[in-house]
Amino acid sequence: MIKMASKIWNVSETMVNGGLRFCLYSSSRSRLKVAVCDSPGPMVHGCVSFCTEADSDDGLPHTLEHLVFMGSQKYPFKGVLDLIANRCMASGTNAWTDQDHTAYTLDTVGSEGFLMVLPIYIDHLLQPMLTSSQFATEVHHINGNGENAGVVYSEMQDHESEMENIVDVKLKELLFPPAHPYRVDTGGKLAFLRDSCSLQKVQDYHKRYYHLSNMLVSVCGQVPHQKLLSIMEKVEEEYLPRVPSDFTAPFQMTAPELTDFKEEQVECPSDDASRGIVEIAWFTHDPNDLETCEAILILADYFTRTAVAPMQKDFVLLEEPLASGIDMIANEEVKCRLTISFQGVPVEKLKECKAKLMSKTIPEYIKPESWDMDRMNSILDQEILNEQVKLETRIHNSLFGEIISHQLYDHGQEKLLVKRLNKIDTLQKLKAKPAEYWAQLVQTYLTGPSATVIGLPSEALVEKISKTEKARLDAQRKALGKKGLEEKKKEIEQAIWENTHKKPDADLLKKMIVEKLEEFDRFDVKSVSNSDPSSLTEAEAKFLHQFPFHTTIHSCNTQFVELIFLLDSSHLSVCQRQWLYLYTELLFDSPAIIDGVRYDADEVAKLYTKDLIEHSVHTGIRGHFDNFANIQLKVERSKLSNLAKWTEVLTKGVIFDAQRIKQVALRLVGDAKEHKRDGCTVASNLMVKNIYKQNTNSVLYDALVLEKFHEYVAELCDTNPNEVYAKLQELREALLNGSISAHFICHVEDLDAKLFDPSKWMFLNGAGTNIAEPKIPAFLELVDDSSAGKQQVVAVGGSESSFIYQVLGTVLYDGGRRSLVRDRVER
Ligand SMILES: [Zn+2]
Repeated sequence: MIKMASKIWNVSETMVNGGLRFCLYSSSRSRLKVAVCDSPGPMVHGCVSFCTEADSDDGLPHTLEHLVFMGSQKYPFKGVLDLIANRCMASGTNAWTDQDHTAYTLDTVGSEGFLMVLPIYIDHLLQPMLTSSQFATEVHHINGNGENAGVVYSEMQDHESEMENIVDVKLKELLFPPAHPYRVDTGGKLAFLRDSCSLQKVQDYHKRYYHLSNMLVSVCGQVPHQKLLSIMEKVEEEYLPRVPSDFTAPFQMTAPELTDFKEEQVECPSDDASRGIVEIAWFTHDPNDLETCEAILILADYFTRTAVAPMQKDFVLLEEPLASGIDMIANEEVKCRLTISFQGVPVEKLKECKAKLMSKTIPEYIKPESWDMDRMNSILDQEILNEQVKLETRIHNSLFGEIISHQLYDHGQEKLLVKRLNKIDTLQKLKAKPAEYWAQLVQTYLTGPSATVIGLPSEALVEKISKTEKARLDAQRKALGKKGLEEKKKEIEQAIWENTHKKPDADLLKKMIVEKLEEFDRFDVKSVSNSDPSSLTEAEAKFLHQFPFHTTIHSCNTQFVELIFLLDSSHLSVCQRQWLYLYTELLFDSPAIIDGVRYDADEVAKLYTKDLIEHSVHTGIRGHFDNFANIQLKVERSKLSNLAKWTEVLTKGVIFDAQRIKQVALRLVGDAKEHKRDGCTVASNLMVKNIYKQNTNSVLYDALVLEKFHEYVAELCDTNPNEVYAKLQELREALLNGSISAHFICHVEDLDAKLFDPSKWMFLNGAGTNIAEPKIPAFLELVDDSSAGKQQVVAVGGSESSFIYQVLGTVLYDGGRRSLVRDRVER
């Protein structure tokens, strides 16, 4: 429905999946668009996006993204935007550069701060200072030691030698001609950042793409539309003269094509020469064909997720795995692209991945009879429920993605946006499709010409790259000479001074603050537990009566029930704890007894996909309270009894099976080898090992730390499986003997009391009823006393960058309860 909201704005209104109001306002004066989704809760999320097309490896989109945060012509101070945002209840500003767009986000509590910051943010985007001193510090310069530096340069240094990136670059070379917008590195290649990228180019690029006619402002949250529009009207009046008269929307090129099969192998520097990666890509459908877009995502899910997925069975869950992980990635482009990526592939098997895919998996699924339509239906049902879950809490992430896709590829057709926002309709349509439809999808898109790249790890290349880089730097220093180096030193010092000496005055900052908390929208949450029965309503008491352990209800407005089930692991010995990671990985990947019947691992996977909307197992709760093993499950209200059923299966019903344990252990070894190539992960790992005591989950719940142990377990599965079973059984009993507690997030008054059943939770009642609150260990009990002041260095061959983690620990007391504030300084 399109109507005039005012003289300036045309509005088209729709509902997101039938649940939330969504309005798209288009200005009649420029092509500026403002999208607003009335999502509930205190947070207001904003995203300003530009379509950005590049034709070189200069990294202009990325360098520009960094430079806009350095100050605008109206607010010419470095960091002023974040300073003001902080005073306006923002949790932060952020940005990303993709292959085809650049986006800037702002998240605030309440709308008042949001509306105050937005015009200042937009001024930074449309009128940044873009000075040469900013270019020097943020993008690239040569320092007094003759080394190349700069924020963007350092960032890309880490990226360029990563195996994933090297393979991706090669794959794009096979798919697109030189200088093609989908082939170029929008982040910037190092050689180009050094020699080709310049301030003038960034300024020209800014003029071409950062203006009202290429800008879309999206907002999710409780914001008065008229107030937002009147701010945007002023913004529009101010910047209208800057819209180039000859602007045509980016990405109007003809679709690329693959006419024959291509394959190449690339060497990648790596400390571990045992594992590589394989990627295979096809061009698929038109981005306006939204039904196929959705179908391909479902196809990826069907093929790769859980133990029952065909590609898991064919490549990962094998006695001798061909890969430790497998992904199917769909890229939305002028012609969409589908990539299958095999990670952690043993080098001697690098050739086998594609061969098996082409000779077994794909031919098998061209036949309709191979499809398990029962599983397909539960995947689709689960996707539909996921869309409903998003309406309650976190709509903004997926919504911004859809709006940006619309901005890029829908040629302004609003009916396509409506379709994008009503995914449930599309998913319902897919539910009606027979197996022939899915078989045809594979036939159409996965049998034609493809491009394959094999990433081969090379230890020798680590050495070679570092020698070449050293020689380049030596030559650079020599060319500059002592005098030249001194000049470089002075230049960069001068640039830093120019960027930082001006500070915003107190008057400006005083104006830009939210003085009083507004009545922002809140999620009403009431928390009660069975350890304080006096304060319970009848419904709460009835619900809590079911549980023989400490249970808290967090009652709020939701259609779902989420369980956070906690097993305290504080008392485990080191020997027991080292099995914990493998144990939790096995829970969703093993055979099990369900309602007295034994099911194979893939049948179990099928059943939980049907019964649960979300499921996960890990340690801790959102990064805290690491001593708990946490089983997290989510169901629809009407399926409440599935929570007891699956808690029982996961705590008691899992059957340990040597073959399965070996497969999972080897997959974890593969993961460790992947992590080892990433400098940032290795550094953070080392830091954690230094801070915490050895016998904590912080240290011992980690694939990298346990690499050798998992190798040993995989061997033990062949030589002495009974010992493996005994150890896992010992751990399971130890966990069940520790304190047990649960949290439920639900609307308790709306639950059907007929579904409450204490007998369903009796399986945990072996040790009798204990509803005492579990003890949370004080942070200091977990910290290694000797860690303060310690420093350690580790070499990582697969990375050109260095990483420093510095940690400062402070312990705050809050009404007798101890909580922790941890600050991480990352450089
Ligand atoms: Zn960056």
